[in-house]
Amino acid sequence: MGPVNEWGVRTWGQPCRECGFSWSISADEGISAMSEVPERFREAVGQSDGTAVGPGLTWPVTAYVGHVADNLRIFAERLVGVARGAPPRVAAYEQDELAAARHYEAVALQGALWSLERAVSDWLTAVDIGRHANVEFLHPERGPYGWADVVTSNLHDALHHEHDIRRTLASREAST
Ligand SMILES: [Zn+2]
Repeated sequence: MGPVNEWGVRTWGQPCRECGFSWSISADEGISAMSEVPERFREAVGQSDGTAVGPGLTWPVTAYVGHVADNLRIFAERLVGVARGAPPRVAAYEQDELAAARHYEAVALQGALWSLERAVSDWLTAVDIGRHANVEFLHPERGPYGWADVVTSNLHDALHHEHDIRRTLASREAST
């Protein structure tokens, strides 16, 4: 188990205490699972307008879709940058500041779902490039980060927030 998986286990537990994700998934399994994420999100969102906020959560459904898409784009950019010769220390980004700057809550859900689909497609290409170059970059907070660690941690981010969306909409159904 690599350093990022240790980070994940330390932060979220094995399996994740919230979404049940297992950090011991292989890179190939992770890539295959990521290719199903856009369809899983469409199904999870269903007929929702994206505005509901679940109990104990701060972001509405649309914000989770926007965040997962942006996170995948940022990691894809990091992978390809280092694969093409950039130094391994990548730029940090702050997800809450990005959420505020992007006004995720006001983004059209239909547009965010389209962005997610495109982001996954580009991410799959970037992971392939990163794998061939055996990329390892330095994450500003988490330390050494290999391409396979990117697969695991990005997949967890996507599935964890799919879980947030599902529990948001389930609690809404229960209260109406
Ligand atoms: Zn989780």
